[in-house]
Amino acid sequence: MSQIESPRHLVTRFAPSPTGRLHIGHGWSALQAHDLARESGGRFLLRIEDTDITRCREDYTQGIYEDLHWLGLSWDGLMIQSARLPAYDAALEALKAQGLAYPCFCTRGDIAREVAASLHAPHGADGPLYPGTCRRLGGDERAQRIAAGQTHSWRLDMGAALARTSPLVWHDATAGAVPVDPDALGDLILKGKDRPASYHLAVVVDDAAQGVTDVVRGLDVFASTHAHRTLQALLGLPSPFYRHHRLVVDAQAKRLAKRAAGLSLAELRAAGWSGPDLADDLRAGRFPVGIALGED
Ligand code: GLU
Repeated sequence: MSQIESPRHLVTRFAPSPTGRLHIGHGWSALQAHDLARESGGRFLLRIEDTDITRCREDYTQGIYEDLHWLGLSWDGLMIQSARLPAYDAALEALKAQGLAYPCFCTRGDIAREVAASLHAPHGADGPLYPGTCRRLGGDERAQRIAAGQTHSWRLDMGAALARTSPLVWHDATAGAVPVDPDALGDLILKGKDRPASYHLAVVVDDAAQGVTDVVRGLDVFASTHAHRTLQALLGLPSPFYRHHRLVVDAQAKRLAKRAAGLSLAELRAAGWSGPDLADDLRAGRFPVGIALGED
């Protein structure tokens, strides 16, 4: 099957991180993923993306279940990322075995200083790209520092990775065929100092493990797909079809933050809203006062 044609029975997922309560934007995203799957006779899956152990909380995970049920949504499968660390380690090992992952000992301060000292620090989608300091370390120094117990993350050597693959493209419902841009994220983190797997690594491994055919998610992570497509190629995983959607924004046209006061689904419920009615409104494109869909 070609990557462009979606199969008839679509498998979609909603993949929130339990770092706060869900807001209307999350509800809208979940509804789209849910309805797309159900209308095709396919499956809608839920994935709790809780590898950021310093920020994720179990009560927020419980809140996700509550909020989705309140909207009237059910799911056909549940995956919890914190229970899947061996799968991410295996993927990291596969990248190391290809010589495409390297340990990075830099602190945030080290990186900021190096970027500030550089006249032409390249910028990607999320700000300045990692300047590659630790990519240039020799094998002996790496081994010595690791043996000495120096804390480190693991990064992808994006240049080497793309030199290894044929030109890569991913497919988006709105943007069409998108060639991979190596500078979108640069040498992204695969495993953090206190994060057992990065969002990028875990999402790629799990979309494949769950058989996701269509990734429905916000435009805020559009640029991440360059990294995801690259990792799929390196790990021999299929590439789903992407459906990045516009974000829900507030009256100042700013995207909703997890802490957006008064706009969490829990607060709306407490204020007496009906979940199924809100779901129907969102499906019809009717957003509560002060809320709208943002730009493409
Ligand atoms: N956990 C990510 C988020 O909450 C999911 C993004 C995605 O759907 O890939 O932004």
